[in-house]
Amino acid sequence: MSDEAEIRPGETTVDLPPADDAQLRFIGRIRTPFLTRADCPRQGDPEEGPECRVELDPRLEPALAGIEGKAWLELLYWLDRSRRDLLTQRPRGSDGPRGTFSLRSPQRPNPIGSSMVRLVRREGPVLVVRGLDCLDGTPVLDLKPARCDQGVQIRAESERET
Ligand code: SAM
Repeated sequence: MSDEAEIRPGETTVDLPPADDAQLRFIGRIRTPFLTRADCPRQGDPEEGPECRVELDPRLEPALAGIEGKAWLELLYWLDRSRRDLLTQRPRGSDGPRGTFSLRSPQRPNPIGSSMVRLVRREGPVLVVRGLDCLDGTPVLDLKPARCDQGVQIRAESERET
């Protein structure tokens, strides 16, 4: 079975010019146990999810100073195996197509993913975290401490669900 994201009945696409205007630099790669889309959770679980490794470019290691004290991080990553032309999509199990910007689908014009993750430990330029949902090898765009209230909110939500 192909792992390629395919068009479903009712989905629509758009032809856009090449996306060459944003000069982003990948700052590392994420190593996860998820080798296919089917292996990935829809959203990561910062409590029960597997440990994943955020392997930063070692030249950027000094930029991690002080991060050990942060329990929650916001991670931004580039969903590099996404379609970028979908205007409407039919999520599995939905009753009809919905607009891309009303979804957290990985298929979007700029396929930026974000997750609030729990920092487990730091190993030099590598951060070990829980709470990711991305394929192994996904490029990292940025990371920053979560706003205080976000960590509290996530903890409250996961406690409510148990
Ligand atoms: N947590 C992020 C967010 O909300 O912005 C991403 C959510 S998205 C629903 C997660 C899904 O994207 C995974 O279940 C998988 O199907 C897909 N995915 C994961 N890594 C990907 C990648 N590198 N390229 C394309 N799709 C990916």
